[in-house]
Amino acid sequence: MGCRDTRTCKGGCTIIDHGVPNHSFYMPTRIVYGQGTLARLSELVEETAGPDAHVFLVTGPNNLKAQGTLDSVLADLGRFELTHYGGALPFTPPNLVDDAVEARRASGANVVVGIGGGSVLDLAKLVAILASNPGPSLDYGTGVRRIGQPGIPFIAVPTTSGSSSEVTSAARLWLFDEQESYAVSHLHMYPTTAIVDPDLALTMPSDLAAATGMDAFTSAFESYWATESQPITDALALRVVRLYAQNLEDSCNGAGAEARANCALAATISGVGYTNSHPNICHAFSQPLTLMKGVAHGQAVAVSLGACLKWNAPAISHKLPALWEALGVESLDDAVTRVEQIMEHCGLKTRLEDLGFGSDDMETALDLVPWYRLKIVPREMSRLQAHSLLESLL
Ligand SMILES: [Zn+2]
Repeated sequence: MGCRDTRTCKGGCTIIDHGVPNHSFYMPTRIVYGQGTLARLSELVEETAGPDAHVFLVTGPNNLKAQGTLDSVLADLGRFELTHYGGALPFTPPNLVDDAVEARRASGANVVVGIGGGSVLDLAKLVAILASNPGPSLDYGTGVRRIGQPGIPFIAVPTTSGSSSEVTSAARLWLFDEQESYAVSHLHMYPTTAIVDPDLALTMPSDLAAATGMDAFTSAFESYWATESQPITDALALRVVRLYAQNLEDSCNGAGAEARANCALAATISGVGYTNSHPNICHAFSQPLTLMKGVAHGQAVAVSLGACLKWNAPAISHKLPALWEALGVESLDDAVTRVEQIMEHCGLKTRLEDLGFGSDDMETALDLVPWYRLKIVPREMSRLQAHSLLESLL
């Protein structure tokens, strides 16, 4: 195939345009994936922070302890100085981050390890970056301050399969009283290492497997239609769609460890891609559902997937055959039906009314949508059109 265009740059060299746009793809996190890889934690801590490492371990208060995993982790890390912060909560509030940052500072720990779901990893990620960036965490969400320095090393160990926080450069802060949510994001915030051990996801309850799985599944669609998508993120998104289409229902219905393991892999691949091409419209519409009704993140994100696919499909028609092939369908209508089928089989809701959201909530919800996230959607959407889309989901 011939070149489509040649241009001359300022220095006189010839730029040959092959019709493939230039893109940059960034993934600095080392990913250690596989059954039993949690056993390598202390080895990876030593590689990261040396034999005299002082570990700041971030976990939630309950699940890890109940599974018996916490005891084995504490024993494994016993050869290092260790400070355990077990107070992570869902929907990380800024004051909790500030408390954990202060606890890390007081401890003098030089490496952060986070083991848990998305909120645990987000908290640990913020502790690591704010170790060398002063001031309240909220300032970095509102833009009053900007991340300027790399943090201390951070090892992320997910126990759910869907937040993908173990391979992304962002963490989210939630303020329910103010009905606000802010992302803190910077290239310095990628975890140093992600340990993705599918065994850790085995004990995840089905509803959590469903919601977290649909989060990463939806993110792959958003990545695929985003104007920031590129050949590398597209290849990853298609793999994620295929893995979830073939495994999520089995994973949510207790049909075996293999399906769970495939979903753990899919979640990580999803994050590797979308941290470069960015979740957008479904995530934007999820925010009011979570802030107003406390809807779980994955459920809130997934409820608009079918409608948003319908909206964006005409703008990416050249990319649809590969997407249908990955999803195992042959048309847009089949794709929307298949998405709803997967959600229903996993016990998730496909209608807003079933999430306690009615037409009276519409205007407030539209006020709370972070519209900037729609800038990378391939078809522009007005507030009125968003209103119609959400109404179609009541
Ligand atoms: Zn998400």
